[in-house]
Amino acid sequence: MALIEFEHVFKRYPGSSNAAVDDLNLHIEAGEFLTLLGPSGSGKTSTLMLLAGFEAPSEGAIRLDGKSIESLPPHQRNMGVVFQSYSLFPHMTVAENVAFPLSVRKVSKTVIAEKVTAALAKVHLENFTHRKPNQLSGGQQQRVALARALVFEPRLVLMDEPLSALDKKLREEMQLEIRRLHRELGVTMVFVTHDQSEAMTLSDRVAVFNQGRIEQLASPQALYDAPANPFVANFLGDNNMLNCTLAHGGTGSVKTATGQTLQARICATTALNSDATLKLCVRPEFLQVGTDCAALATPNCLNGTLVDLIHQGDHWRVVARLSTLESGPHSAALQWFAKVSPGALPAGLVVGQNVSLGFRPEDAWVF
Ligand code: ADP
Ligand code: MG
Repeated sequence: MALIEFEHVFKRYPGSSNAAVDDLNLHIEAGEFLTLLGPSGSGKTSTLMLLAGFEAPSEGAIRLDGKSIESLPPHQRNMGVVFQSYSLFPHMTVAENVAFPLSVRKVSKTVIAEKVTAALAKVHLENFTHRKPNQLSGGQQQRVALARALVFEPRLVLMDEPLSALDKKLREEMQLEIRRLHRELGVTMVFVTHDQSEAMTLSDRVAVFNQGRIEQLASPQALYDAPANPFVANFLGDNNMLNCTLAHGGTGSVKTATGQTLQARICATTALNSDATLKLCVRPEFLQVGTDCAALATPNCLNGTLVDLIHQGDHWRVVARLSTLESGPHSAALQWFAKVSPGALPAGLVVGQNVSLGFRPEDAWVF
């Protein structure tokens, strides 16, 4: 049995026509690190608030160990919570902040002292017990919040964008800290972020949210290597897209909006007999760049004009404009980009010249 089960859960806020959480079905396994990833407004925080008990579902069931918890108040759910903004009590010291969940649970002073010391040691803040929150850096404050969420040994730790106020380097350090804590403590963690690289760093599984629904739930690698649809392909990793239709006579062949027939992987969910406009998707690291198609040994090749060439340290970003046959407001020019390692870039490329983008059929998905 899963630790947590959401079954057909809806959350509708008063005065809003769309459900913030729209028929959510989700199982969370004991001990896993699950991330809810999605754009702003996709229902991640609402889902976490339903789980923590700060919001009640409009419909559906939420179970912990198979038992319904909808009527259980937050403090009886045995879940530690860390929010985006540092929600520490400013007038209390670090030690008092961490002790708070134990004090309200009427734990004895001696036990509190032991547990606070142990929790602060876990987040490497044992020497900061007497400081006030405003005497700490942002990263240290979030460590205190984490220690406070862990101190009463909860079954679950819920975190809502806890690192988003930190700068990049500190954020990455804290990600590794949280990974270590998850491994050492074996506690179940549910983490909310809109940052795909954070989700990939931390998670056993990632649920990709869009408009209150889960588009796909899988390991980071499975989401990256086999996205279920263009939304997931675009949200996790970079992606280029081109409209296409299925070409007659071939299951793996499509006619693109640039007028070519290309070989691609037709993903299972696509109706094979349809005349509908489909999306061809290719990740930029799978594109090879040449001065013409003859220079590339790949079965698929698109021609375009070089628009920009940007040095990004470990790779070059090569931006090309493809001309499409489609009419309509967005049709005139379509930009694709490739990520090319420095050694693989043709010499002497100049903006404005013709370039070709080549790729293998197995690296092109059609949805
Ligand atoms: P996320 O955390 O993914 O950004 P939220 O769960 O905060 O998304 O919000 C999902 C949707 O619900 C959004 O459209 C948001 O405007 C709406 N929403 C969130 N909280 C409330 C609230 N307290 N009252 C009304 N609407 C809300
Ligand atoms: Mg949110």
